[in-house]
Amino acid sequence: MRRWNGWGEETMSSPLSPAAATFIKDAIGPGIPLRDATFEEVRARVPPSRLPTHPLISADPAERVRHARGQSLPDWIALRSGCIDTFPDGVASPEGESEVRDLIRYACETGAQLIPYGGGTSVVGHINPLPGDRPVLTIDLKRMSRLDNMDEANHLATFGTGVTGLHLEAQLRAYGYTLGHFPQSFEYSTLGGWIATRSSGQQSLGYGRIEQLFAGGRMETPSGTLEVQPFPASATGMDLREIVLGSEGRLGILTEATIRVTPLPEQEQFLVVFFPDWERGIAAGRQMLQMRLPLAMLRLSTPMETKTNLVLAGHERFMWTLEHALALRGVGNNKCMLLMGMAGCKAVVTSARKEALGIAGELKGVSAGRVLGAQWHKNRFRTPYLRNTLWSMGYAVDTVETATTWDRVPVLVEAIEVALRGGLAEDDEKVHVFSHLSHLYRHGSGIYTTYLYRIASNPAETLHRWQVLKEAASRAIIAQHGTISHQHGVGTDHQRYLMTEKGELGLAAMRQLYKHFDPQGMMNPGKLVV
Ligand SMILES: Cc1cc2nc3c(=O)[nH]c(=O)nc-3n(C[C@H](O)[C@H](O)[C@H](O)COP(=O)(O)OP(=O)(O)OC[C@H]3O[C@@H](n4cnc5c(N)ncnc54)[C@H](O)[C@@H]3O)c2cc1C
Repeated sequence: MRRWNGWGEETMSSPLSPAAATFIKDAIGPGIPLRDATFEEVRARVPPSRLPTHPLISADPAERVRHARGQSLPDWIALRSGCIDTFPDGVASPEGESEVRDLIRYACETGAQLIPYGGGTSVVGHINPLPGDRPVLTIDLKRMSRLDNMDEANHLATFGTGVTGLHLEAQLRAYGYTLGHFPQSFEYSTLGGWIATRSSGQQSLGYGRIEQLFAGGRMETPSGTLEVQPFPASATGMDLREIVLGSEGRLGILTEATIRVTPLPEQEQFLVVFFPDWERGIAAGRQMLQMRLPLAMLRLSTPMETKTNLVLAGHERFMWTLEHALALRGVGNNKCMLLMGMAGCKAVVTSARKEALGIAGELKGVSAGRVLGAQWHKNRFRTPYLRNTLWSMGYAVDTVETATTWDRVPVLVEAIEVALRGGLAEDDEKVHVFSHLSHLYRHGSGIYTTYLYRIASNPAETLHRWQVLKEAASRAIIAQHGTISHQHGVGTDHQRYLMTEKGELGLAAMRQLYKHFDPQGMMNPGKLVV
């Protein structure tokens, strides 16, 4: 059973080694674990539904609790403390397009607001019902998850959009194909959610972001059905895929999507190189991209992330040997870990590895071989489970992410880290901060910063600490010309920073577009743009 107030399956845990627990305690102080509200306590507080009955809609309070919040840190604070002030009035799980159309009609008639719901893994408040007079109906697409068509001649596959990453890959692999889209939320996030949030997977360098993988589909909107055909390319004016991508539920409900798939690679390799410092690591990543090496992924950690990851990995004896071997080769305390992935036919993998190691070597990078890479690959979807462990120890974890051009990358990373590290100084609280570059491009890079702080003795104070930190990091991103989101989207949490990025005219155009498809303003109002 999926956890209702945390990440992942209830039966799975991710314990921390004593050395890792000490490392965190030394960094930000001892955590003070709090009691969590129980599911029963929260369920008992769900108010009566305001929706008229309908055969497809459940008003079961348990279902309404399970669809009340996503996975952002404010969501976690609400769920763990039980301080949840809004719930959907009902949840429907349609089985096909005609049921989706029925529900949209019902919402038009009753004045209900609709929230399309994929896996509920949003980290920016996308799927949370907002306070207001209108009843809220959440449409969970989990029953629309079939592979409807596998078109091997054109390398296209058509799925119901409620399919999760895990089931999508399982169905494609039966035919010998992959989508190659692996966000860390892969176990639960869905194809529809990826498209509606413009998500990016760990191997986006090789396979592309979701906007390159989404070929076309069908969307049910209050104004009718929008059909986007899966042409390989077209010069017929505006690309309608672009208005579906990143629509965050504001336009309609994407029921079916055709995606561009790739035959499973003959070979896949992940290996690790350590650089003596951050500057040389960045130079290596940039060169590899600008020379267009056929790599599937690159992820470069700052010295602090490198250190933190090695400690959290928990293999002390192996790490001791590794660190001594690296020190002998001139890679010391400032070391930065670069994870490289290669996928394809043997010849491509071999030549990409050779070229990449050549560039790394010129910048004093030392290869640590495939052990750490294989370990990362094995555990890559387990890392989010650490959030549960850390919370139970009294620590909150969150991330901020952005992207900018290469010339600004070092300054922006530094600005975000400084803003977060000193963010709680007034409260005399420390913040542990570390970053990596992932999703590298020829013209710049995505930046992903993680921060840990201590949970306060009451949820309002824990939330206040988050607000202070989020605001500080977001202001630093804007000041240094980063985008307010490279992959998580806008939801409610990034809305107030959107004006700087899109401008008045741009925002007005977006509002008009959503109004065209949704004149009554019933599709996920209050999210993305208001
Ligand atoms: C532990 C963790 C790791 C993560 N890692 C990554 C990562 O590596 N890369 C990344 O990009 N993101 C990541 N995320 C963020 C999140 O997983 C993505 O935003 C994901 O795309 C959301 O998918 P979902 O199916 O859960 O959508 P939901 O959270 O259910 O919904 C998100 C938005 O999409 C809309 N929506 C969903 N389905 C449809 C549909 N069929 N039609 C219309 N609108 C729809 C919803 O209305 C909502 O506005 C992570 C989140 C967590 C918690």
